[in-house]
Amino acid sequence: MDKAVLIVEDEKDIREIIEYNLKKQGFVTEAVQDGVQALKRIREGRLGLVILDLMLPGIDGMELCRIIRSDREKAVRETPVIMLTARSEEIDKVLGLELGADDYITKPFSTRELIARVKSVLRRYETAKAGPAAEQIIEVGDLVVDTGKYQVQKAGRRLDLSAVEFKLFLYLVQRPGRIISRDLLLDAVWGNESYVEPRTVDVHIRRMREKIEDDPSNPRYIMTKRGVGYYFSEKAAAP
Ligand code: CA
Repeated sequence: MDKAVLIVEDEKDIREIIEYNLKKQGFVTEAVQDGVQALKRIREGRLGLVILDLMLPGIDGMELCRIIRSDREKAVRETPVIMLTARSEEIDKVLGLELGADDYITKPFSTRELIARVKSVLRRYETAKAGPAAEQIIEVGDLVVDTGKYQVQKAGRRLDLSAVEFKLFLYLVQRPGRIISRDLLLDAVWGNESYVEPRTVDVHIRRMREKIEDDPSNPRYIMTKRGVGYYFSEKAAAP
């Protein structure tokens, strides 16, 4: 990867360990010590990934992640973020609606885990980016998704999804197991030029479920994370 990994961490030792190990793996790295510097650098663009510590002086990691995810610039909003957290109880929050980080690492972490997480998040982004352009065929359970034709087949039968339903479905199916907030779905599917109520997402999800699920009230593919949003079942995505 030619784009740099930005490490945002005020603790020198941890910052240096991460940099050292990523460099050893061939990554280009940059490092800053606080949220203000981080935000400035992120807005300059051309970063492959940000490793963001939760506890930072000034703007903390949570606030910074929130700022990134609601930035006006699409490129900034879509910056891959891995959060470093010392407390496992924060994980739900970190990955959920409020922050929308892509993954997390709990301190203390092993180098191997760190590298694995970084590679996995980058891979996920590359797949998502290559998705529609490459006219991918995605097979999940008894569903076959043709991203080029905007079609979903279930057990060989073509489902009559609207364009919006298809876009919602595709966004979720390309990120199995990741909880996507209503706001993020609104942004991804409707864009931010039109004002659509978050409840609209629920309505479309309900209609989509009626077409996709065997039993819409007991879904197998499109799952609800109460109070947060939706996700595509990782279980359904498992081969
Ligand atoms: Ca810290």
